[in-house]
Amino acid sequence: MALIFQKYGGTSVGSVERIQNVANKVAKFVDDGHQVVVTVSAMSGETNRLTAMANEMQAQPCKREMDVLLTTGEQVTIALLSMALQAKGYPAISYTGWQVPIQTDKVHSKARIEHIDGTKILDQLGQGKVVIVAGFQGMNPEGDISTLGRGGSDTTAVALAAALNADECQIYTDVDGVYTTDPRVVPQAKRLDQITYDEMLELASLGAKVLQIRSVEFASKYKVPLRVLSSLKEGGGTLITSEENFKESEMEKPLISGIAFSRDEAKLMILGVPDKPGVAYQILGPISDANIDIDMIIQNQGVDGTTDFTFTMSRLDAEAAKAVLQSTANHLGAREVLMDDEIVKISMVGVGMKSHAGIASTMFKTLADNEINIQMIGTTEIKISVVIGEEHLEVAVQTLHEAFGLDK
Ligand code: ADP
Ligand code: ASP
Ligand code: MG
Repeated sequence: MALIFQKYGGTSVGSVERIQNVANKVAKFVDDGHQVVVTVSAMSGETNRLTAMANEMQAQPCKREMDVLLTTGEQVTIALLSMALQAKGYPAISYTGWQVPIQTDKVHSKARIEHIDGTKILDQLGQGKVVIVAGFQGMNPEGDISTLGRGGSDTTAVALAAALNADECQIYTDVDGVYTTDPRVVPQAKRLDQITYDEMLELASLGAKVLQIRSVEFASKYKVPLRVLSSLKEGGGTLITSEENFKESEMEKPLISGIAFSRDEAKLMILGVPDKPGVAYQILGPISDANIDIDMIIQNQGVDGTTDFTFTMSRLDAEAAKAVLQSTANHLGAREVLMDDEIVKISMVGVGMKSHAGIASTMFKTLADNEINIQMIGTTEIKISVVIGEEHLEVAVQTLHEAFGLDK
């Protein structure tokens, strides 16, 4: 008997029939003698539908109320799945995040899980029930409802699996595993049998939304064996595991395991800033105080006592960040603040890169051959990212995928 955690995403619970399909899948695991804890997302499109309604009420909807609103989507699917299981004769019980409770910090709309009390879940499993937990939600120290950011149901499932010492955590979605890149953009993309936590962490943080980044952080930290699978198609999916466990195949580990991209990018520039110690802190401190995460940073070499400073962030945060930056600019006597939200970031990821030079030059040449201008570059040991104009995204990903032989 194993303790198995499963998560079904929006498409997998997108209709009554799909929820019944999930119930059938869960039932098979119960029949095989396993204990099962299921996390579900809202039905596909529901979170967007709720968000659109909120935007009709307020230009910048109140974040506390937004969390109250968005968590209703998952409350629908947990109840329906529980009913579907009961109807098949499988005892089941559903819990919202705050009933478990899943305790989070107090940052509305992108809360972090701080503690999970597994008592209730273990008790119900002990009584032979399937336990169904709403994804993407928790309760903050004030007792208010919080949400974990878009795609947060992945994190709910993995955090539960970590807290309760799961034998495996299975993420069921609308693709049958993790691919060399998003198969919707590159149909020739190849499914990976395995990928390391580090590589998956990079891919997720660089925009491959197949897993929310925090779910991979939890999996890596607590060594939860994580598998991405299709809810509609049979198959082994992709196992995400540590480098030590990585089964060496005959072939050498590929240099590049995948290409990630993010459309959710914007760039802010502050021009003509006095070039003196403390400026970077004065610019970025207020941004961080506003709970806005920044990503790539470039500070130019100063000329005539001033410098230019550029950084990127999520497009959703761009307007708010611009307002903060404008006030810093006034305070510092900077010349100008500019924003560009028609950019995307493309990243090549691979642990094999550590020991190989030349990846960057091949990448830059491929982009140059396609007349794609690179606006920013960032590297770490296992990734190279570039920022380019959003109109070039598809061509860039497709030609890079081919140039690195990922379709082979
Ligand atoms: P769910 O609703 O099940 O959480 P998501 O839409 O969040 O599903 O994530 C699955 C999607 O992730 C796929 O449909 C695919 O378009 C996208 N995706 C992006 N990069 C990859 C990748 N490298 N491998 C597989 N899917 C990817
Ligand atoms: N329903 C939420 C979303 O659409 C959470 C999730 O699906 O993981 O982002
Ligand atoms: Mg998702």
